[in-house]
Order: sequence, then structure tokens, then C-alpha cells
Amino acid sequence: MTVIGVDDTDSRERGMCTTYLAARLAERLRDAAGEDATDAASVERLLLVRLNPAVEHKTRGNAALAVHTDADPDDALRVAREEIDAVAETDDPRTNPGLVVAPGDPDDVPNGVADFARAAVRDHLSVADADDRIAAAGYRSAGWKLGRGKVGALAAVGAWAAFGAGEDAEGEGGSANGDAGDATDPWTYECISYREPDRVGAPREVDAESVFEAANDAYPAAWDTVDRETGQLVCVPHTPGPILHGIRGDDPDVVRAVAEAIESEPVSRRAVFVTNQGTDAHLRDAALADVEDGRAYRVDGTVADAPETRRGGHVFFSLRDAGSDPDSGSANSDSESANSDSGAELRCAAFEPTKRFRDRVRALRPGDRITACGEVSDGTLKLEKFAVRELDRTELATPDCPECDRSMESAGAGQGYRCRDCGTTAPGKVERAVDRELAVGWYEVPPEARRHIAKPLVRGGFDAPVHPEK
Ligand code: ATP
Repeated sequence: MTVIGVDDTDSRERGMCTTYLAARLAERLRDAAGEDATDAASVERLLLVRLNPAVEHKTRGNAALAVHTDADPDDALRVAREEIDAVAETDDPRTNPGLVVAPGDPDDVPNGVADFARAAVRDHLSVADADDRIAAAGYRSAGWKLGRGKVGALAAVGAWAAFGAGEDAEGEGGSANGDAGDATDPWTYECISYREPDRVGAPREVDAESVFEAANDAYPAAWDTVDRETGQLVCVPHTPGPILHGIRGDDPDVVRAVAEAIESEPVSRRAVFVTNQGTDAHLRDAALADVEDGRAYRVDGTVADAPETRRGGHVFFSLRDAGSDPDSGSANSDSESANSDSGAELRCAAFEPTKRFRDRVRALRPGDRITACGEVSDGTLKLEKFAVRELDRTELATPDCPECDRSMESAGAGQGYRCRDCGTTAPGKVERAVDRELAVGWYEVPPEARRHIAKPLVRGGFDAPVHPEK
């Protein structure tokens, strides 16, 4: 076996997409690995790995690609180089392609390569570190310009071993038993359909009705295809580039069937990718005091102040250390660090593009205990989802007179309350029940605002009831 890792070939303005390069590369290897090669190779799998979404160099979704093939490693290197030369947007100063070719099985890479893949999803790595590990493993590689893409390319090579070899023994798009994956499966699937090259740049022609029909038939095995509240076609990108639509889900046969059922302009090629999309692989458990910029977390805390909507429609509140409560039912209640009360605070934000999710956030009240998930940058956690663990259901209110039912009045600073009519007194404010719109359990951003790597609640496997957005 040979594993080919590629990354950093596209441009925000000029388009392209590294998945397209991988799909082309797979086709060429299958056709025959170039004029000098004797045989056509088989391609077992295309792997689409989403890396740390907080990486600043990313074009959009920080994707890296691996092709698992039986092509000869030298043929693989040559053909992959040719494809990168042909389609990578290297005129864009921010596009710095990288290529790594690893002889051997994808589930049998050196530990240093698997560790690198794990770190690439949650941390920040350097090209020098990638180069060292490429050399230590004896891999072939190539870099264009700064060669930054070697980081993602090496991570893509190590991902299969790092995150667990899946069960799709039949290879690309083929589940060994045809069953849908379960929520703990580290891999999901995306069937990507590509446009004819001469249409790229023109508005995409996709029949919305056929998308909704296919999406509804396949839900929830296929998810994030549409947004049923806003009517948006989430599977159709708005950015320039060769993708017509991408259908995501737990079952390779289902995502392909949905793609095939969609009526649209002609499709030039179609490929099913094994991916870590929709898995929350980027999140790490931590105590509030330990979070750092540039990483994504699952943290427990108590809402410290009332959520506030600021200019632009962004909603902010602060989360305070939850303190020690072994019965909180939190995701990380068994971690030592979660059982401290450091007094740490973290600002959380639901930005305007998260739309109706902001109503859920606005419904939080000081005193609510939650688990918040999202990337931290500039000291702010950008909420992707949160779980209500415990709702504060009471508020302090001015007492009513027990004799005449009228609201009492303050009897002066520190002197409690008194009824103006009958003189009855009360020592202070009283607790009153408040109606809450939220319930215990998980809330999430709508499909149109979902990060590629974030796990939709409908996939299941969460530690509390879920309130999925459809
Ligand atoms: P594309 O569709 O081309 O894959 P993208 O949004 O995935 O676009 P890239 O253009 O690939 O973004 O840019 C991401 C760059 O960051 C790549 O060069 C990649 O090697 C590098 N990178 C990815 N993850 C990390 C990481 N954890 N630490 C440092 N660099 C990283």
C-alpha cells in the first residue's frame, strides 16, 4: 500500500479545493499511473481530514487529504506532483502546497506520524516538525513555496492510524457490512459532486425540491444537507470552486444515494470521502482556568452574567468556574482539573451567523450550570454547542403582602419590606419561581452555521438529552 497526503492547494478568492485534487488524483491512479507505469492502480479510500479549525493559515475548513492506494510510491509521487502542478492555485501568496508519500499500510505508520496527526487536529505544528518526522519515517515529500501544506499532508497520512482504522474494508465508499456508522465511529462520509470545469464561477444550478426530498428521505443517516427552518441548501457551497454539492452522513451508501437523487446541472465527477467531519474531534476537555487561544474545548462552568446582545447581533456572556460538584453530570466531571474552583472566567460568544442558536444563548441566566463547546480565540469561546446541566429556576423578588396581596415596599436601607396598607413587614426579598424556555440537555448551532468538524446532535452519543437543529 501507499498513502499519498496532500494539502494547501486552494485559494479563497480563486477557488479550487484540495478534495478536487484528491478525486482527480484517484482517477488518474485508477486509469494508469502515467505513461511510464505498467499497471493501473486501485484506490482503496479517499480520506478527508479536518485539522485544527483555529489554524490561521487555513483557506476555509482546514482540510487535508489522503489517498490510500496500491500504486507504486514513485509513481504516486510523480502523478501527485503533476496534479498539484496542474491545479493548485500557487499564484495565491497564501497557497503553499505540500505532498507526502508514505510506502506501507495507512494503519501501520510510525507512532511519531500518528501523534502528529492527533496534534494537527487540536494543536499548532510547524513545517520543520513535519520535515523532521517525514525524514525519520523515510517518506518522500515535496513542498511548493513555503511548503506549509506538508503539515496537513503528513497529518492526513497519519490520520487513519491516529483515529482508528474504520470498518470500510471494501474501500472508498464501501461499508464492509453496509451498516450506518454509530456515534462513536471516528469516521463519517461525504459524497462530493463536482461541476464541469467550464461552469465553475457561474451560479450553481441545483433543484432545491429534489434536495429537500432526498435529504428528508435520508435523515438522519445523512445530516446537514439542508436547513429545514430557513430553507437553505447547506450542501451547496457559496464559495468559488469546483464543488456542486457535498452530502454528509453516517453511511457511505446513503450519502451517495442522496447525491444521485439530486437534480442539477451536469456532474463531472463524484467521489465518496471517509472523513472526521461531524465528530467533534477538535474538542478537548479542560478546566476554565486552563484554556488557551487557538484551541477548541469542552468546558464546564456557571453562567456569570446575563447574556448581552451587542452591535452586529453577537451575543456575549461570561462563564465562571463551576466549582466542585461530582454530581454535575458534566462531560469532564471525572477529570481532576474540573473539580477545582479557580475563580476563572471565560467570555463566550454566539456570533450573528449562528442565527436562531442565539435565542438559546439569550435564554441562559446567571447561575445556570452548563458545558460550553467551541474554539477559543482572543480569550473568547466561540460557541458551537452547549449543554444545560442545571437551570437556575428561582429569582429574588419584592415580597407580596400575605394579608392584602399587594406588593410591599422597601422599609429603608437594610430594613426589609413593609406593606403600605396594613403595616405587615418582611425581612427581605423572597425567592420566586421563574419559567425557563430551556431544558436540561444539548443545544447546537443550526446546520448552516456548523463547522465541518463539529458533531451534529442528531448523530447521538451525547451525555444528556439533545435538542437537535434540523
Ligand atoms: P483546502 O481546501 O485547500 O484544504 P483549507 O481551508 O483546508 O483549504 P489550507 O489552504 O489547506 O486550508 O491551509 C491550511 C494550512 O495550514 C495548510 O498549509 C496546512 O498544512 C496548515 N495546517 C493545518 N493544520 C495545522 C496545524 N495544526 N498546525 C499548523 N499548520 C497547520
